[in-house]
Amino acid sequence: MTNSTFDIIVIGGGPGGYVAAIRAAQLGFKVAVIEKHSNLGGTCLNVGCIPSKALLYSTELYHTIAHKAASNGIIVKGLSPDLPALMTKKNQVVDQLRNGIKALLKANKIDVIHASAQIISPTQVKAGNNVLNTKNIIIATGSQVIELPFLKFDGKIVVSSDDAIAFDSIPEKIVVVGAGAIGLELGSVWSRLGSDVTIVELLPRVAITFDHEISKMAERIFKKQGIKFELDAKVTGIKTKAKTTILTAEKAGKELEFPADKIIVCVGRKPFTEGLGLENLGIERDKQGRIVTDNHFKTNVPGIFAIGDVTDGPMLAHKAEEEGVALAELIAGKSGHVNYTIIPNVIYTDPELASVGISEQEAKEQGLQVKIGKFPFAANGRALASDASEGMVKVIADAKNDKLLGVQIIGRHASELIAPAVAHMEYGGSAEDLARTIAAHPTLAETLKEAALALDGRAIHAI
Ligand SMILES: Cc1cc2nc3c(=O)[nH]c(=O)nc-3n(C[C@H](O)[C@H](O)[C@H](O)COP(=O)(O)OP(=O)(O)OC[C@H]3O[C@@H](n4cnc5c(N)ncnc54)[C@H](O)[C@@H]3O)c2cc1C
Repeated sequence: MTNSTFDIIVIGGGPGGYVAAIRAAQLGFKVAVIEKHSNLGGTCLNVGCIPSKALLYSTELYHTIAHKAASNGIIVKGLSPDLPALMTKKNQVVDQLRNGIKALLKANKIDVIHASAQIISPTQVKAGNNVLNTKNIIIATGSQVIELPFLKFDGKIVVSSDDAIAFDSIPEKIVVVGAGAIGLELGSVWSRLGSDVTIVELLPRVAITFDHEISKMAERIFKKQGIKFELDAKVTGIKTKAKTTILTAEKAGKELEFPADKIIVCVGRKPFTEGLGLENLGIERDKQGRIVTDNHFKTNVPGIFAIGDVTDGPMLAHKAEEEGVALAELIAGKSGHVNYTIIPNVIYTDPELASVGISEQEAKEQGLQVKIGKFPFAANGRALASDASEGMVKVIADAKNDKLLGVQIIGRHASELIAPAVAHMEYGGSAEDLARTIAAHPTLAETLKEAALALDGRAIHAI
């Protein structure tokens, strides 16, 4: 491998990196991916999106059978979770996808090198003992969990999401720090399996990036499911009392105590750039440590680009993937582009939360005159027939020209229902376009249409 020459070297085999590599290979470039782990797929496949969704699916199945089977006329006896089998299923899904990515890169004739990469110059990357030459470098090194200084990870009691997707027994008491997407998803997984889960959050609402009404509804529903919340509470540290670990927090001047077998810290992620040698090259980073790029993903050093979690913007796999595609196309002289205003955001709890564009509150902050249309899942036949009556759709449109500005959904399959809203917004659609789109009956998709109709008081199935 010594002195190999490539058109593009991609550092990092996560969704940003491997997707950029495939698109670049499709465009005729000679490409190498350098990945320090023995598996491709990055955070998303190995410890993120996919394992968490496998656990969410298995535990939702268990929870549904436990709580809904009888009322649907199905008698189940002797129901219990089998944690090792549940984890095996999750690992099989992850393995299958790892092999899939490996096969895709091979089919696209992309060289994969498993080593830690260090950038020596804009045209040279060190991978282990080899120095590779290249015309372009794409940094896609992703992110890592944030550790709180007064709550250090010990891998046993105080853990990150990396550990919380692989506990080998069901903890009795769990405290989750952070009510964002990862905290809510992991809290749901373990609560469904029987753990007593409390989520402690510094901010006044759960799922803070969502519309206030949606996040309030989510809190109410999750509480009904048995998850406890302590909002507006600032975690201060841990202490031990009679051999029990206790998380401490401060709320309205009072100290709160939460005994815990596991404390899952989900307070966000930070860009990962260690060992890349950015300092030697003078590659600019912002205060949060993110690599600074222009709108063509260029760093301040010509020939070096960055995409995904290591750069500004939402830390989402589909954002990283889109950037990978756009960048490969830009390097090929095409007009690659990412529409950052229309990136869907999802929390995969039950019900799911999904949004695109701006919320009612954000529209008001921007001084926009908006019209709002809402429709409850409780008025949808398919939702009632499938025990999915908790939820609502909220459509936000510009009051002057009816242009769709945002859609917020809480409800079953919200992650899928948001897709047509994304498409309408991508084409610059109006609420009227959404209202006139025919949804099959009976489907949950009718809620989207009815919410758009509700904008002008025309929803058919609303009183
Ligand atoms: C529990 C959890 C659940 C999540 N769920 C979702 C979800 O449902 N939907 C969603 O969109 N996002 C989700 N995310 C976020 C998503 O995983 C990230 O946004 C996504 O993985 C970012 O992709 P990336 O390619 O930028 O970086 P990463 O996936 O982090 O990949 C970076 C890769 O670079 C490698 N690397 C780093 N430095 C070097 C080096 N010097 N040399 C060689 N290799 C290097 C790393 O080993 C890693 O494999 C979740 C994250 C977590 C933790």
